[in-house]
Amino acid sequence: MDLSIVIPAYNEEKRLGGSLSKIIPYLDSLELNYEIIVVDDGSKDKTIEVANQFKDKTNLRVLENKINRGKGYSVKQGILDAKFDHVLFTDSDLATPIDELDILLEGLKEDNDIVIASRTLEDSEIIVNQPFYRQIMGKTFPLMVRVIAVRGISDTQCGFKLFKTEVIQNIVKHQTIDRFGFDVELLFLAKKMNYKIKEVPVQWIDQEGSRLHPIKDGYGMFKELLKVRSNHFLGKYKINQA
Ligand code: UDP
Ligand code: MG
Repeated sequence: MDLSIVIPAYNEEKRLGGSLSKIIPYLDSLELNYEIIVVDDGSKDKTIEVANQFKDKTNLRVLENKINRGKGYSVKQGILDAKFDHVLFTDSDLATPIDELDILLEGLKEDNDIVIASRTLEDSEIIVNQPFYRQIMGKTFPLMVRVIAVRGISDTQCGFKLFKTEVIQNIVKHQTIDRFGFDVELLFLAKKMNYKIKEVPVQWIDQEGSRLHPIKDGYGMFKELLKVRSNHFLGKYKINQA
């Protein structure tokens, strides 16, 4: 198999360099072809310069949003540009360490289309927990997800997900959510399209410097959940069964 790695990055000059320095040797150690796609989400700092410094070390390119559009929009741009047959997206801060990809790749073997990292399975290992307000969000949001949008997935929000490229390119065509609620929509669509999803337990080492504003983005994510439900109700997703 070959792998495209999509990294959305908004004002990540401090976190991205360290992460790329871990991702590249790890990928080099696997026997596969890979490409890294950094999607700069209208950063106002030196994110693009930091990413560009790695171009001579590896197969990396940078896509640029002219203005800040959100994590969901950025991940979608990277996915649509992916050239290889599998695609992973990961947060710039590697709160899920890159070597956890081993476990996700293992999960693909059972003929799953999508393998997602989870922080809330029995064998998940939280080494550094999120700040208290995020732990509260991390408990309430999944309840709302379950009631409003998607059942049967314990952690929809972990920023470390692996897909067959054909599958996810098919899914993102229907994506309407640009910001932090996009994972729920992708998984909602994946279920409606009958793709096989597996959740695997991973490590989480929370990193400082979150780009998520608890009130603004928390409210935004709630509205995004309702949008998934209403889009479905109004027949706005024109899905061909997989
Ligand atoms: N991100 C983005 N656009 C945004 C906000 C965030 O591309 O408008 C990226 C960010 O750079 C990071 C990922 O989304 O790579 C997750 O963000 P963050 O680590 O702040 O989220 P948290 O860990 O707090 O959930
Ligand atoms: Mg983070």
